[in-house]
Amino acid sequence: MANTITLTMIKPDAVEKGFTGNILKDIADAGFTITALKLTQLTRSDAERFYSVHRERPFFNSLVEFMISGPIVAAVLKKDNAVEDFRKLIGATNPENAEEGTIRKKYAESVEKNAVHGSDSDENAAIEAHFHFADKEIYSFL
Ligand code: ATP
Ligand code: MG
Repeated sequence: MANTITLTMIKPDAVEKGFTGNILKDIADAGFTITALKLTQLTRSDAERFYSVHRERPFFNSLVEFMISGPIVAAVLKKDNAVEDFRKLIGATNPENAEEGTIRKKYAESVEKNAVHGSDSDENAAIEAHFHFADKEIYSFL
């Protein structure tokens, strides 16, 4: 699929450890174009809304606390087959199960503090891109 998008967040663990530059380089080296980018911090209600699909899960409260614990980097990424290719690049949710060379294998510390988010469908990518960015902040011509 040509020129699809995905939404990523570099999570508070990875920002705090100074991995932002390395992760953005890995993303660029894998052929993704950054069409929107910001350093920001989620409020509690932002994090609860963003991960609302998981609200009944036992890890939900801990996940929300983690996601608001420090700044994140949000970005819209463009590429052919962006959602699937990005999930391959980041690796399994639990870094112990992530393949060698994936972002989570390289930078994540646990199943919760797993360095990056990636959208799971084209539909959610569009919703999540507009969660973080106004239309005028997404440089679709890039
Ligand atoms: P993401 O949506 O952040 O890209 P994912 O799609 O790989 O991650 P999900 O199942 O959507 O995984 O879980 C969302 C996030 O919740 C995970 O990235 C992780 O931070 C946290 N999480 C998932 N499973 C667990 C768990 N068993 N224990 C603690 N935290 C978890
Ligand atoms: Mg997910």
